[in-house]
Amino acid sequence: MLFIVPTPIGNLRDITFRAVDILKSCDFIICEDTRQTRKLLDAYEIQKTMISFHEHSAKMKIEKILYSLREGQSAALVSDGGTPLISDPGFELVRAALREGIQVESLPGPCALITALAASGLAVDSFSFFGFPPAKPAGRRNFFSDLKEREETLIFYESPFRVLQTLNDMKEIFGEREAVVGRELTKKFEEYQRGTLTTLIENFSKKKAIGEFVILVSGAGRKAVL
Ligand code: SAM
Repeated sequence: MLFIVPTPIGNLRDITFRAVDILKSCDFIICEDTRQTRKLLDAYEIQKTMISFHEHSAKMKIEKILYSLREGQSAALVSDGGTPLISDPGFELVRAALREGIQVESLPGPCALITALAASGLAVDSFSFFGFPPAKPAGRRNFFSDLKEREETLIFYESPFRVLQTLNDMKEIFGEREAVVGRELTKKFEEYQRGTLTTLIENFSKKKAIGEFVILVSGAGRKAVL
């Protein structure tokens, strides 16, 4: 059995009882950075074997994990924070496990995009998530141009170094829209900035962006909810 176990995106108490039970009872934990996962395990007094796993982990590593699962062991797949596979490693492993008929169980839990969407005030009846926009200018322009006509709320993860650039690109390509930037969600300095792309650009031009960010922008032709 392979469990997909979401973990906190900031506040260490954002974990379900069931997630803790599974981390305690599984045979081993598959994680990204063992030091990061160690902090969580220590907080819940869990001692467990950890295997580090990355998007580009060798096929051998996947094979080794699958072998243990076929032998009847159970494993919990976690990431450094949030839901594994969502802009995080695990896709290849889950695909391979499903191919082999291994049971995969996914627990509900923290995920930055859903946390931000729920509080955004933007339309939630229809939305799409696109992960991180490409870092290079030409790639970014094509990427945003392809999304210009979409009518649903659009959600992105972004590095602090490119938040302002992304807002500027959106303004240039989408035109004026309502948007929300969620920063450091569930953490001490949690903050939502809601406004038009123009006002957000003004705000972010004044100070350096620090922390983790989710950017949401309303779809084409959407009326503002707020
Ligand atoms: N798997 C995670 C999830 O379920 O949200 C996402 C992992 S991805 C590698 C990390 C990115 O998610 C960050 O760069 C940021 O864009 C977003 N993120 C994660 N935690 C966040 C938080 N507490 N506040 C705002 N954004 C966050």
